[in-house]
Amino acid sequence: MEEKTLIIIKPDGVKRHLIGRIISRFEERLLTIDQMRYGTLTEETAKAHYAHLADKPFFQDIIDYMTSGPVVFIVLKGENAIEMVRKMIGQTNALEAAPGTIRGDFATNKSQNVIHASDCPAAADVEIKRFFSDKNLSYVKQ
Ligand code: ADP
Repeated sequence: MEEKTLIIIKPDGVKRHLIGRIISRFEERLLTIDQMRYGTLTEETAKAHYAHLADKPFFQDIIDYMTSGPVVFIVLKGENAIEMVRKMIGQTNALEAAPGTIRGDFATNKSQNVIHASDCPAAADVEIKRFFSDKNLSYVKQ
């Protein structure tokens, strides 16, 4: 089934100049870039995005990390895109992420792990709306 999913190349991925290498991996698997934008998350949006972790002791650390610099937001589309992309990014914790996955090849710990991807269709829906629903893009055809 054709699906859309939302990925974020996190601030460490951008600072480490990994944008091109990460996008290449998705293109190699014939996932298509549907939408893409570059910018820095506000504290408010970062908190909404990670609301499911609000009760964790490391919550504010995640927010500080995610708002520490620019990120790349990408909507990818393709056959079973949500599950395929989750498999390609690997486990949250770098130690558990298999070599060959993006986190398994580039991440070094469990907090700064280079990339985010939606984990199910409901999350993909919410996340695509969260980052791409503004109407201020009238300078391009949608
Ligand atoms: P995933 O990003 O794999 O979907 P989660 O939603 O559980 O995983 O976590 C969101 C993000 O919060 C992780 O990608 C990571 O940046 C950070 N994080 C998760 N667990 C920890 C932890 N135990 N310590 C520090 N940061 C964490």
